[in-house]
Amino acid sequence: MIVVMKRGATREEIEHMIQRVEELGLKSQPIYGTERTVIAAIGEKRDEYRHSLESGPGVSEVVSILAPYKVASREVKPESTVVRVGSLAVGNSHIGMIAGPCSVESEEQTMATARAVKAAGATALRGGAFKPRTSPYSFQGLKEDGLKILAAARQETGLAVVTEVIAAADVPLVAKYADVLQIGARNMQNYRLLDAAGEEGKPVLLKRGPSATMDELLLAAEYILNAGNPNVMLCERGIRTFETHTRFSLTLASVPYLHERSHLPVVVDPSHGTGHASLVPRMAAAAIAAGAAGLIRSRSEMLTEL
Ligand code: PEP
Ligand code: MN
Repeated sequence: MIVVMKRGATREEIEHMIQRVEELGLKSQPIYGTERTVIAAIGEKRDEYRHSLESGPGVSEVVSILAPYKVASREVKPESTVVRVGSLAVGNSHIGMIAGPCSVESEEQTMATARAVKAAGATALRGGAFKPRTSPYSFQGLKEDGLKILAAARQETGLAVVTEVIAAADVPLVAKYADVLQIGARNMQNYRLLDAAGEEGKPVLLKRGPSATMDELLLAAEYILNAGNPNVMLCERGIRTFETHTRFSLTLASVPYLHERSHLPVVVDPSHGTGHASLVPRMAAAAIAAGAAGLIRSRSEMLTEL
């Protein structure tokens, strides 16, 4: 259920309703919008709860949330979320341009790429220090040394740093250096990692799993939101299909679909989505035409991987 507060409801009225929701044994999740505040009341739905909440001070109405995800849904928050951190703004007509190497390979490579992407108009730098590799024999990333290089690149260029975290135990270390925690496609349903990123509080870029449905992506985002972190960006990076000419199939219909269902901004990754550098510029343009709130583009120099 969501408790929709009246426009102009006071802080005290909102606090009172949060308390009332919790007294009923439901989890409360207030969402402060520019238009109105709503309180998501999550737990078992009972009619008597609805009546007791409806009569509360400052309450406009109490409505059921139909979607399986609650806090992520547009029913709860009609206005689009804008995620802002440092040089990066994503959502509601702010288009974030996140670019950089697939992995941080050396200081020279990262610094040169950071300068180049900044000059080309990027608003954030990406680069993996912890790499989730299909093969255990592939380069696994420079780990903390890589994070330090990214922090130095931010210092010089002013670009916000987006970097991947692959394990819940690494969240504090990665958050010490990063502006945005990237949760990769392979980890989309690593629920302990989602909880840890939610509790940490830094903005999260959550990539769609290669075999995840949109509902599964939104429910994964719900874990982060439910842990109290409202700054989540969804990322379409292609799914696995029977097609082998591209590395994945970049399904751009997900962009307007997700924007219809959720207030969270959708970023598109045309590099991993296609696996071919020559296809990236046109798919990037197509993503923006589909309403994407940002692009994340990468290319490795040392590896053949994008
Ligand atoms: C990456 O961004 O470098 C990456 C590993 O992407 P994905 O999780 O989408 O495969
Ligand atoms: Mn990559």
